[in-house]
Amino acid sequence: MLVSAKEMLTKAKAGKYAVGQFNINNLEWTKAVLLTAQENNSPVILGVSEGAGKYMAGYKTIVGMVNGMLEELKITVPVALHLDHGSYEGCLKCIEAGFSSIMFDGSHYPIEENIAKTKELVKITAEKGMSLEAEVGSIGGEEDGVVGAGEVADPNECKMIADLGVTMLAAGIGNIHGKYPANWKGLDFDVLAEIQKLTGEMPLVLHGGTGIPEDMIKTAISLGVSKINVNTECQLSFAAATRKYVEAGKDLEGKGFDPRKLLAPGFEAIKATVKEKMELFGSVNKA
Ligand SMILES: [Zn+2]
Repeated sequence: MLVSAKEMLTKAKAGKYAVGQFNINNLEWTKAVLLTAQENNSPVILGVSEGAGKYMAGYKTIVGMVNGMLEELKITVPVALHLDHGSYEGCLKCIEAGFSSIMFDGSHYPIEENIAKTKELVKITAEKGMSLEAEVGSIGGEEDGVVGAGEVADPNECKMIADLGVTMLAAGIGNIHGKYPANWKGLDFDVLAEIQKLTGEMPLVLHGGTGIPEDMIKTAISLGVSKINVNTECQLSFAAATRKYVEAGKDLEGKGFDPRKLLAPGFEAIKATVKEKMELFGSVNKA
């Protein structure tokens, strides 16, 4: 059964580790993430962007697929199904479809409007026992057409949003979606420490986990980050493994064209990436 992310993140914050959010794109992706979580006895959050939602034939299709896998693959670790960077309308759709967690990305609204819409969603998600992530300060780079400037969040605005009763808070601290540029300045730990000081127990979320050096990830966790989003890194490892298979001409040998063979190296590559992240974040054996 899908669960809210609240309990797993409260435990993570207290235990000074982080739970990974791994974005899914299809059946192979979902199966790879769920099996890796089970094998490593780790809690996990499946992330779905609005674009990936459309790609996978809608939120109801995803809920059906994930619930089916939890049962058929005998997944017993805590799993949350989470909308990533949702619009207000997207949030309502996912609540109706049976997601267990949502992120409302109101970072592009003026703070007053972000607060008003977040308040509405706090009410609805509380009634349903779901978790809600809010965002303050846009996260850099592009995600599904939403381009963020990579600004650093105002800690006082973070406190205002945290006090509305959201479950977890994403704050921009110089992190970016996608690959990091060579001249990237790194994460702003002073601001992160300030946000943590003002928001106390609130689990903090780090987006754009791909390409952040390991020591920075560890420092971020020590400063209250208890959810880290990984998306691009699984895509890169899947693509590299698939490229290797095709370039070696394996799809031309025997039944190598069978999708169950063609997609197998990519599937294994996602599993390896997810395992590596779970070890780095410290969530192994924390289910
Ligand atoms: Zn993000």
